[in-house]
Amino acid sequence: MNRRYRKTIIAGNWKMNKTLSETKAFADELKPLIGKPKWCEVVLCVPSVNLQAAVRLFKESRVAIGAETCHYESNGAFTGEVSAEMLKEIGVKYVIIGHSERRQYYNETDFTVNKKVHAALEAGLYPIVCVGESLEQRELGVTMDLISYQVKAALAGVPADKMRHVVIAYEPIWAIGTGKTATAEQANEVCEAIRAVIRKLYGARVARSVTIQYGGSMNAKNAQELLAQPDVDGGLIGGASLKAPDFVQIINAANQE
Ligand code: PEP
Repeated sequence: MNRRYRKTIIAGNWKMNKTLSETKAFADELKPLIGKPKWCEVVLCVPSVNLQAAVRLFKESRVAIGAETCHYESNGAFTGEVSAEMLKEIGVKYVIIGHSERRQYYNETDFTVNKKVHAALEAGLYPIVCVGESLEQRELGVTMDLISYQVKAALAGVPADKMRHVVIAYEPIWAIGTGKTATAEQANEVCEAIRAVIRKLYGARVARSVTIQYGGSMNAKNAQELLAQPDVDGGLIGGASLKAPDFVQIINAANQE
């Protein structure tokens, strides 16, 4: 973390978990536990059907609500999809774009990721753009090339003044939902490389202001070490965001003075 230049953001990704009643129960449990974190922003990305309720439930709290994806068109014949404008209008602030599960199961490509980043920014949302390598790619030694390509493709055509709304999440695919975490050094090495790519594209001032999260089996035990790294500015958290006490411990690790 480097709070002098950029925000620390702890974001939960609930994926396809929690019904409306479970969402309400979680809000009731979480709100008294987290209080008002001063040093980090807290985000919960929830299934689209529960977004409106989540916005209402967390209204008076410091928790912002995010969606897990959006379409790149603002409207049209795209059965089952939700646009960035629709999300913005109901009070959603963030949207995850290009999560590896979306890339794997729903054919999201670097090209559609880029279109979605533009759509999110135009609607006034903050995209959390996910990049990350598979185990095979890491073993082949192409992690940095791949990540650099993914970042450049996602940001193609995004002007510098919009970069203060963009969050990048480095999520090695082999660490997502597997219980395997990148070491703090591995996480920082790639987050630092992402910042270097942004520096080349936009210059040093923009690069040092962009929040770059780590995601991949972050939990109450390993959060502190990961977040102590200078280029790791928060976490995108799946499994450990589903239980309020675990999520709070991660928030507390990010919220230390
Ligand atoms: C994720 O879904 O982005 C994620 C990092 O999941 P987990 O924390 O469960 O590995």
